[in-house]
Amino acid sequence: MKKTISLFFVSVVLFSSIATQAHAGIKIFSCEPEWSALATELGATAADVYTATHGLQDPHHIQARPSLIARVRNADLVICTGAELEVGWLPLLLQQSGNPKIQVGQTGYFMATDFVKKLEVPKRVDRSMGDIHAEGNPHIQLDPRLIATVALALSQRMQQIDPFQREHYANSYKQFSERWQQAIQRWNQLAAPLKGVPVVSQHNGFVYLYDWLGIQEIAVLEPQHGVDPSVSHLQKILNNLKQKPARMVIYAGYQDPRASQWLNKNAGLPAVQLPFTVGGSTSANNLYSLMDDTLAKLLKANNP
Ligand SMILES: [Zn+2]
Repeated sequence: MKKTISLFFVSVVLFSSIATQAHAGIKIFSCEPEWSALATELGATAADVYTATHGLQDPHHIQARPSLIARVRNADLVICTGAELEVGWLPLLLQQSGNPKIQVGQTGYFMATDFVKKLEVPKRVDRSMGDIHAEGNPHIQLDPRLIATVALALSQRMQQIDPFQREHYANSYKQFSERWQQAIQRWNQLAAPLKGVPVVSQHNGFVYLYDWLGIQEIAVLEPQHGVDPSVSHLQKILNNLKQKPARMVIYAGYQDPRASQWLNKNAGLPAVQLPFTVGGSTSANNLYSLMDDTLAKLLKANNP
C-alpha cells in the first residue's frame, strides 16, 4: 500500500513537472490589447502575455514607466503595432531594458504593420503638420483581413522563438485561421448595408475598417493627426456637411467624446463610440467580439 502511494506521488510530481514544461511558453510584451488577444489565439499562454496598455488608453501617448521597462527586460518577444504608433515610448523601453533579444531587427521584435500594406503613407513628411504618422496610418486592427495576415507572420515568429512547441503553435494557428475566415464571411454579409455610407471620424483611426467595408470617410474632426479641433474648425465641417451630409460621427472608446458630441448636437448626427481595440467597450472581450461589437454599433447607427 505504502509503495502504491509513493509511486502515485512520484508520478503526480513527474506529470506536473512535464506539464509545467509544456506550458512554459514565450514571455510576451505586447503594446496594445489586440496583439495580446491575437498571441493567445495563436497558442501563447495568457499568463505569459503582458499588455502595456488597456482598451481605454490612447496608445499614441504612453509613459515609458519603470514597470514597463522591467517587463520588456524579461520578454522573449515584443509585439507592437509599429509604423510610429508607439514612437513616443517604445524606443525608450527597448533601450532602457538592456534586453538584446527584442531590439529592432532581432527575432524578438515584431511590428504588426511591417506585414501589411499601409494606407495614408504621406508623400512628403513635414513635422509641422502635427503629430503625423510618417510611415502611414498604423491603426490596422479593425480590418480582419489584415489580422489574418499578421496572424500567419506572428505564428511563424512564435514557432521560431520556441521551436519545442512548434506543433502547438501551428495547430493553434490552423484552428484560429479557419474560425477567423468563417467569421470574416459572416461579417461581410452582416456589414453589407454599410457599403458607401458617408461618415465623419473624430481621429483617423478607422481607415482600414472603412477600406474593408467600403464606408466613405467624408471628414475628420481633428485638423491634424492627434490635434483637438477648435470650434471654428468644427463649424467649417458643419457647413460642409450641409452640402455633403454624413450618416454618423465615429470616435474611439479611449477618446474624449466632446468633439463628436458637438457635432451630434449641432448636426443631429448620431455619435458612435466604437471599441477600437479589445477592452474598448464592455462587450469587446476578444478579437471576435471586438468585430461583432464594432459592426453592431455601426449597423444600429446606420439604421436606428
Ligand atoms: Zn493615430
